[in-house]
Amino acid sequence: MAEPLKAVFWDVDGTLAETEMAGHRLAFNRAFADSGLPWRWDPLTYRRLLNVTGGRERLGVFLSEVEGRVPEASRLDQLQACKQAHYLELVGEGDLVLRAGVVRLMTEIAGAGLLQAIVTTSGRSAVTALLQASADDLQPHLRFWICGEDVACKKPDPQAYRLAIARAGVQPAQILVLEDSSPGLRAAASAGLATVVTLSQVSAMEPVEAFAEALAVLDGLGDELEPARVLRGPTCPGDQVTLSYLQRLLSEPATMEPQPPTTPVNPDG
Ligand SMILES: [Mg+2]
Repeated sequence: MAEPLKAVFWDVDGTLAETEMAGHRLAFNRAFADSGLPWRWDPLTYRRLLNVTGGRERLGVFLSEVEGRVPEASRLDQLQACKQAHYLELVGEGDLVLRAGVVRLMTEIAGAGLLQAIVTTSGRSAVTALLQASADDLQPHLRFWICGEDVACKKPDPQAYRLAIARAGVQPAQILVLEDSSPGLRAAASAGLATVVTLSQVSAMEPVEAFAEALAVLDGLGDELEPARVLRGPTCPGDQVTLSYLQRLLSEPATMEPQPPTTPVNPDG
């Protein structure tokens, strides 16, 4: 029997806002400069490093690569703390805005009385800064936040989603996840959750087949000025992801019209 949608879990980085290239990457570079280190991550390098989830872990892998030995934990801590401070400053300056459709959809879901929560493995302070920098107050719409501090293992490990399922008290079959990346999708799928992927600047570079487990893959949630394009999955009426689209995706996908094949757009071309 079809399950009704009762809860929506939101990823943060790449899903709520394009935080990676214009946020985290610049913050790492500023931390390198502050510490007198010669490295600056360009977008291509950073895209490769994003295969390592978690900022501290990413730094560790990079330093091991360029220095040929595993960095000391205290040095990693110091660099990561400096990077976090720069990130909060960038967000506080209003440089990172919420993606098109986020406020619209979150408000609609809240209006229908469904549970919503943040499920990220980024740090709580980064999430707080992003939500506080938004002109729209989304915090009343979110029942709880699962953040990096709450789990021992970051995405793609399913721990954050398993914790969220327990805290929500909702059956996994009645939950839908919004994610932008393949580690995020893997985390949700491993916890038994259905996922809609809204590709970010970073994940749009991956082949859409990498997201085969998702109910649908779109280039965003869409709004009047920025219509959403479906790359895989059922057609999205009105070119905007709405609560009714999510409800139908979860409970009656077989009755939905499939999106005809589209020509991929090369973001660099
Ligand atoms: Mg993400």
